Amino acid sequence: SRVLLTGANGFVGSHILSQLLGANLSVRAVVRSQSKADAVRADFPSTSLDFAIVPDITAPSAFDEALKSTPPFDAVIHTASPFLYRAVSNNHEFLDPAIKGTTEILRGIQRVAAQSVKRVVITSSFAAIGAFGQYDDANKTYTSADWNPTTLEAALATTDLGAAYRASKKFAEKAAWDFVATEKPAFDLVVLNPPMVYGPLRHTVASPAELNESNARIYNLFVALANTVDSPLPPNGLPLYVDVRDLAYAHLRALQVPEAANTRFLVTAGLVSSQQIADIVRAEVPELQARTPKGTPGVKGLPDAAFTADASPVQKVLGVTFRPMKETFSDLAKQLVGIEKAQ
Ligand code: NDP
Repeated sequence: SRVLLTGANGFVGSHILSQLLGANLSVRAVVRSQSKADAVRADFPSTSLDFAIVPDITAPSAFDEALKSTPPFDAVIHTASPFLYRAVSNNHEFLDPAIKGTTEILRGIQRVAAQSVKRVVITSSFAAIGAFGQYDDANKTYTSADWNPTTLEAALATTDLGAAYRASKKFAEKAAWDFVATEKPAFDLVVLNPPMVYGPLRHTVASPAELNESNARIYNLFVALANTVDSPLPPNGLPLYVDVRDLAYAHLRALQVPEAANTRFLVTAGLVSSQQIADIVRAEVPELQARTPKGTPGVKGLPDAAFTADASPVQKVLGVTFRPMKETFSDLAKQLVGIEKAQ
């Protein structure tokens, strides 16, 4: 079958692309420019891959040409959405592409691919689920029934870009569910809500400065050249995480499993603390021992009342299993050393 994949040049998108091609699917990758298409092509020489350039996903009918295909598309995976803080300077730059990009692709499917597209998979986020300080979530077990309580008014007014990012994911996802409820399209919707996504890159980056947001945080906080073992252990931030390879597999399964229809899945391997990340990096990558903060090795490093999340539905319904955290951070850290050396 044939799949349209947006955000195909991104960290998560590249892994999804890899798994789609690995499953012998025919894929059209949507990227913003020819140079980005060329970069994806260099990483994926497959003849089952072609490209569409959509320079502005907020433009009316942005995806209509990309969605026209012979043979037609059976499914669409929409991952494109801004997450790179260094590329964004105000709340609108998070909110607009996230929300309009989502509504444009759904409207486009209705206009030009309604006969063939049976399933749409959208990459949302735990950002659309968590409280993030808006209520007390000590000891809470999050499920896919939870929503971030933020309002659009608050998201437009806030001076916290993080809050604007999280709202962009909430309102983009909400727009998709609203679209399905009001338009009753022939396709069904599957939404995946990962928290922090970490792990090795499937795409090529020239230097650590080009890393995607989540892995850049690992690089900057744990293994940057300026660190020493005595540097303060970074704060835990959002301690829920998932390995990018497991998340990509969840996207593949979200296309394939009929019972997933119209379901929202929290996709997480669970909690990881800064101490655990530092311990893994120091133990697994000898070259990084001297510049990864040591903290108190062996301590779990999570508050007793930490919230957790229930990812059993994605395991049961989509058959996703989560690899051990050692693999995620060891593979990533080793690759970061290689990227540094090659730059
Ligand atoms: P990347 O920054 O690596 O990839 C983002 C993708 O979205 C790229 O293809 C990028 O294209 C595209 N994109 C970004 N901004 C725009 C825009 N304004 N207009 C059009 N396209 C845009 O990030 P990830 O791979 O990590 O993110 C992929 C998805 O996963 C996003 O929806 C993100 O919200 C979600 N997610 C990621 C998490 C993480 O920890 N990494 C956590 C939870 C959810 P270009 O290269 O041209 O900018």
